[in-house]
Amino acid sequence: MFESMPFISNETFQQIFQSSVEAIMLVDQQGRILLANPVTERMFGYEKGAMIGLLVEDLLPEQMRAKHVGYRKNFTDHPEPRPMGMGRDLIAKRKDGSQFPVAVSLSYTNVDGQILVMAFISDITERKKAEEALKRSEEQLLVYASELEKKVQSRTEDLASTITALEKEVQVRKKAEEEARKALDRERELNELKSKFVSIASHEFRTPLSTVMSSASLISQYTEKGEPDKVNKHVLRIKSSVNHLTSILNDLLSLGKLEEGKVDVNKESIQLSEFLKEVKEEITSTLKAGQRLEVRIGNAVEYLSSDARILRNILFNLISNASKYSDENKAIHIECFMDGGNVAFAVRDEGIGIPAEDQKHMFDRFFRASNAGNVQGTGLGLNIVKRYVDLLNGTISFSSVHGKGSIFTVIIPTR
Ligand code: ADP
Repeated sequence: MFESMPFISNETFQQIFQSSVEAIMLVDQQGRILLANPVTERMFGYEKGAMIGLLVEDLLPEQMRAKHVGYRKNFTDHPEPRPMGMGRDLIAKRKDGSQFPVAVSLSYTNVDGQILVMAFISDITERKKAEEALKRSEEQLLVYASELEKKVQSRTEDLASTITALEKEVQVRKKAEEEARKALDRERELNELKSKFVSIASHEFRTPLSTVMSSASLISQYTEKGEPDKVNKHVLRIKSSVNHLTSILNDLLSLGKLEEGKVDVNKESIQLSEFLKEVKEEITSTLKAGQRLEVRIGNAVEYLSSDARILRNILFNLISNASKYSDENKAIHIECFMDGGNVAFAVRDEGIGIPAEDQKHMFDRFFRASNAGNVQGTGLGLNIVKRYVDLLNGTISFSSVHGKGSIFTVIIPTR
């Protein structure tokens, strides 16, 4: 048949074939081995020339033979050079029955209408081993990777919990620092307050004390001269000065207690009309000459539940301001009425009023309006009142017209 190969001589072909370092077989259309070079014979463990005439299927394990007949037919029907068994593992069988993996490339030649298939076979045992080793090490690598991932995850979790703990610690410290700072600020504020109060008190005490002094010496003079009217006048002056001193001291005391948070709210049942009657009686003696207190109870409840002592202080403060900042002979009105579910106390005067530009500072500590002039005061009363009202869960507001008068309204819950 080699005589029919036009381009290379039979001899040359034989030479290439025999000396090839690759295993080459020539197979006819029926699968018969026409030629197998020495490398092939060695690979399959056959004696020289012993493979000729065998079927290629004889070189396959039993279970693959039937299928291979189909593959072979398929190739000779549509021959084209290609690797064999794409995507499959090819296993070959030696003469002694042992098996080994192979890679096969197919080529063909057409001789007188007969397709002759040329198979180039490589024993890929080593490659397979290497592949398997690679696969094993890849698997090992995957195991390592997953272990590593687990470790990283657990470390990350550890780290996250450490960070959370640290954050908490930082927060706790910040809070402690904040509290310490607040306490320090508060202490500083208290100290400032004390020193400011001492300076105000020493200033404010001077006038009433010198009034007491001069009135006392005048009283002895008028007593000697037998002028009882003048004596009485100076007795009244002394009384008023003492009242003023008392009110400054009361403010000092209240403020101190409020600052220290020592003012407790003790609720009790207050009978309104009785309560206002007592307030009126107590305060009337401190009013200026000719000033009168007019109390009117509107549709207010008969009883309310609140702290009588605090409420009394609030009203005393507002009424004494109304008196201080009004002329003699002016009326001061107290009106009590319901405001929704709450009870309102409105203290109205016809006094000097408060300039519009001062009104926003009225409840600031030590603030005194620009028209307060010589009227004695410390600027503490309304600040104290506001804090008392807060303690009773109430509100305080006012409206005032400079030169005409003011009205301060306190609204507190009935219970
Ligand atoms: P003090 O009367 O001791 O100065 P307050 O805190 O009671 O302090 O009042 C603050 C300031 O508000 C007063 O100095 C005064 O200028 C103004 N004020 C308070 N009540 C009245 C009022 N009824 N009429 C006019 N001004 C007032």
